[in-house]
Amino acid sequence: QPLLEVKDLTAVIAESKQEILKRVNLVVYEGEVHAIMGKNGSGKSTFSKVLVGHPDYEVTGGSVLFKGENLLDLDPEERPLSGLFMSFQSPVEIPGVSNIDFLNMAYNAQKRKLGLPELGPIEFFGYLQPKLELVNMKGDFLNRNVNEGFSGGEKKRNEILQLAVLGADLTILDEIDSGLDVDALKDVANAVNKLLTPKNSLSMITHYLRLLEFIKPTWVHIMEDGSIKKAGDISLAKALEKEGYRAIADY
Ligand code: ADP
Ligand code: MG
Ligand code: MG
Repeated sequence: QPLLEVKDLTAVIAESKQEILKRVNLVVYEGEVHAIMGKNGSGKSTFSKVLVGHPDYEVTGGSVLFKGENLLDLDPEERPLSGLFMSFQSPVEIPGVSNIDFLNMAYNAQKRKLGLPELGPIEFFGYLQPKLELVNMKGDFLNRNVNEGFSGGEKKRNEILQLAVLGADLTILDEIDSGLDVDALKDVANAVNKLLTPKNSLSMITHYLRLLEFIKPTWVHIMEDGSIKKAGDISLAKALEKEGYRAIADY
């Protein structure tokens, strides 16, 4: 049974009813890494946001099964608890809430739902230490407000820190490599690789082959005009990098 099965998913912008996703199909099995590529405006971010239940969009057709259950029936707040994690292209800043308090609250909310023990601030600090090392982040980030004044690279590391704290069966990373220097990219990629197991899966949106050389994809998909038009292995990304989208038109 697939971990995620998207069938003919169609979605519109809630406000204008403009159709953005047009029959998207995607099947993800446990342990797989999927790369989603495609020109700007092809619908990659929208597809990811629809999966996590972003309120800007309305599903008008198709189905999504996640772990055999209808994902679209779940409230957006329930989806992370069901094992879905998404890192947004532009992570939100949360003024007045320190990073460590935010992480601790998110962790405890998850455990509470699952009927598992919560952690107090001191225990949580201990739980966090190896995860900070994993993303190569300095401890002083914990006391700053969530993402406030963080550089692009710091925001991305912080997203992976959240993932490390919460865990996920399916992780969706939207352009986690954008704006990263080579060292930060390596740190982020190494951390993601360490979090991958044969039981969980990753879907990552990227424009660049560089990321796929660090995090090896099982499948590469090309999104175009609101649906996935092509699928292949890394050679698809290589052809794209070398010759652009025109070259893969009849790949
Ligand atoms: P990608 O991530 O592939 O660059 P997006 O999914 O962000 O593309 O956007 C796909 C198309 O839908 C774009 O033309 C974008 O302008 C439009 N779009 C997405 N979300 C909204 C929105 N909330 N309001 C208006 N237009 C939107
Ligand atoms: Mg884009
Ligand atoms: Mg995008």
